[in-house]
Amino acid sequence: MGKALIIGAGGVAGVVVHKCCQNSEVFEEICIASRTKSKCDALKEKLDGGKTKITTARVDADKVEELVALINDYKPDIVINVALPYQDLTIMDACLETKTDYLDTANYEPLDTAKFEYSWQWAYREKFEKAGITAVLGCGFDPGVTGVFSAYAAKHYFDEIIYIDILDCNGGDHGYPFATNFNPEINIREVSAKGSYWENGGWVETEPMEIKRVYNFPEVGEKDMYLLHHEELESLAVNIKGIKRIRFFMTFGQSYLTHLKCLKNVGMTSIEPIEFEGKQIVPLQFLKAVLPDPASLGPRTVGKTNIGCIFQGKKDGKEKTYYLYNVCDHQECYKEVGSQAISYTTGVPAMIGAMMVMTGKWKKPGVYNVEEFDPDPFLEALNKWGLPWQEDFNPTLVE
Ligand code: NDP
Repeated sequence: MGKALIIGAGGVAGVVVHKCCQNSEVFEEICIASRTKSKCDALKEKLDGGKTKITTARVDADKVEELVALINDYKPDIVINVALPYQDLTIMDACLETKTDYLDTANYEPLDTAKFEYSWQWAYREKFEKAGITAVLGCGFDPGVTGVFSAYAAKHYFDEIIYIDILDCNGGDHGYPFATNFNPEINIREVSAKGSYWENGGWVETEPMEIKRVYNFPEVGEKDMYLLHHEELESLAVNIKGIKRIRFFMTFGQSYLTHLKCLKNVGMTSIEPIEFEGKQIVPLQFLKAVLPDPASLGPRTVGKTNIGCIFQGKKDGKEKTYYLYNVCDHQECYKEVGSQAISYTTGVPAMIGAMMVMTGKWKKPGVYNVEEFDPDPFLEALNKWGLPWQEDFNPTLVE
């Protein structure tokens, strides 16, 4: 079918590369391009010899001209951006200039402010429409599958969705006192920010980790979970018509929270540069350097993740509830692709989203969040490519 350019060579990229190679009918050729070429070469070495032809390249994705040169040279059908959120806009600029479809898994975040929102990327809508190219935003698990789940619930089970609770549970244990499951800098910026949820047409802000609930997750068990702001709340508030409240909860263990609090209290999570031995350093970036690399957690992580959405609303005038979720086993992921479930649950949907665009099922010029496309072919593909979903028509609700 075609060619994909994968930007980034970290934990998520590793899964995308494995999955594209498993799906060689669609991904006949891939190019892995990142800042550190040796990481791209290492991935190629692991997977070479299959039907998908793999090449690698070095690119600084902060530089539009380098990206444009690479895209013009390789001529991919789509660019899969699994670098960091800081690179979203430069990669989108390069896609515009070369008229190439685009997909990412996290929304743009400026390096110097811990703030993420879609406004910057939504501002590209008209330009992408005029160029006749598609941008799919936020196509990991959350955001990503959670948006597709919402579109599926709206299409098949509800006349009106009133409440959505997104529950992200990681019941995995890596045995370290403190480590993050994906890029530590992005992860810590996300969880140390104020929480918020959407209610009756506006945002309600909370202190970080102020709202706690306990939930008994299928196949994982009872866990503490905390309300966070999360990027899909912003797009779902716009795209699920008539919605009155959307909240996002993530589970954290007590040890993680105690470490985080201590690191925050001593200033290690700050993104304000400080002077250290004649050099400017950002404490959070230094912390990232001393923490375990998320990609190294794969062999040691045991347990399961459970991520899904609980919907409440009406069908044919009657009240209805519906829970749609996926359970993923860390060790099974490791056996299959050599990574833990957090990278796996992000990388599989990214591959599927790219396949949706390349096969024309999700091809429409403009900039879109995943819930704006037909959810059916995507959910069918999730079952086939390693993230089967389950339904519960009588779930326990979150108070
Ligand atoms: P990693 O830190 O493991 O990997 C990031 C990769 O991007 C590295 O290979 C890094 O290169 C590369 N990179 C960084 N800056 C540049 C640059 N300027 N030019 C070229 N390459 C660059 O992160 P993850 O794989 O864990 O996460 C990837 C993305 O997935 C992130 O945006 C994250 O927010 C998102 N994500 C989304 C989730 C979802 O469910 N939607 C869940 C988890 C993650 P180098 O090796 O040189 O540092």
